[in-house]
Amino acid sequence: MARWNPFGRKENERDDAGVADNNQEQVDQPDESVESVGVFGWAKSALQKTAAVLNTDIRDLVGKEGRLVDDEFLDELFAYLIKTDMGNGPANQIRSDIQEKFRGRKVMMADLLDSAKQTIHGIMQQEHADIAQAESGPTVIMVVGVNGSGKTTSIAKLCHLFTAQGKKVVLGAGDTFRAAAVQQLTVWAERLGAEIVTGKSGGDPASVAYKAVDAAQKTNADICIIDTAGRLQTQANLMDELGRIRRVMTKVIDDAPHEVLLVLDATAGQNAISQARGFTDAAGVSGIVLAKLDGSAKGGVAIPIRQEFGLPVKFVGLGETPDAFAPFDVQTYVDALFDQIDED
Ligand code: GDP
Ligand code: MG
Repeated sequence: MARWNPFGRKENERDDAGVADNNQEQVDQPDESVESVGVFGWAKSALQKTAAVLNTDIRDLVGKEGRLVDDEFLDELFAYLIKTDMGNGPANQIRSDIQEKFRGRKVMMADLLDSAKQTIHGIMQQEHADIAQAESGPTVIMVVGVNGSGKTTSIAKLCHLFTAQGKKVVLGAGDTFRAAAVQQLTVWAERLGAEIVTGKSGGDPASVAYKAVDAAQKTNADICIIDTAGRLQTQANLMDELGRIRRVMTKVIDDAPHEVLLVLDATAGQNAISQARGFTDAAGVSGIVLAKLDGSAKGGVAIPIRQEFGLPVKFVGLGETPDAFAPFDVQTYVDALFDQIDED
């Protein structure tokens, strides 16, 4: 399957002015706080809270003169690392790499950070952070997750991204559980200049998905994004329903959906891990959107998601507006996790 970078431009060309030109009437004003850092500078501001935890704790632990690497030190370091929700595995790996390199010697702050960054980088390597693309016809993206994780907002953000590139987008309001959810997506569709397919309130979500994919196909749309109702990974019947929604799409387009994005709330920490586990098994998730990274002190959670499930984090949510969204980039992420403490 072909893949393409949904941003389709170089970093320094990312320019929200172009977006505003195309959609001046429909789109909300960009969120100042996001625009001021630039979309590609996302990580530093989004991970501020997480980095601040590491900053204070590890700096105190190591001190200006450096610190002898013994068991006591390694245990304390481990305890601080897991506060970020990076999980036992990655924290252990940082610990043992440092032990191997520095045991019985003094370690300085800068060397410790270098080593930790290297370790995390090794864990996080991911090939494709971009969106899978249909060989021909519309690319279908299905969006799943628990209630309130940020699915509908993330769909608006994806939609904004694609319409700004002149792509034609059809949205499917597959959260038929709540009338408010359909309303929410309808408002976004109008603002962002996308088509929307809705169904009856309380109706069959698979039928909405079918109609949306069919409409996308018939109108030669580039992208079709299907919203789904929030569900818990433990609700077997609702998880089965996701399978049914998937299958019904294949009646229109053989290899749809081309992406199943699981939206996780970064502030949910370890809970996000069990969600990833449940949804991966039941819904064939192909990538993660890590929403609400702007408000979390637990931004380390992207690491175990990558390590345990091999799932790429494709996008991060950085706020409530459609432009508060960025493609995930490992290098930027790793640097931002430790950068604040790297400064002197
Ligand atoms: P859904 O139930 O999964 O569809 O969740 P919604 O998209 O309706 O989002 C739930 C709440 O989280 C809303 O108040 C959103 O504005 C908010 N939200 C979603 N994404 C983000 C984000 O990246 N950052 C912040 N700060 N809030 C977000
Ligand atoms: Mg929703």
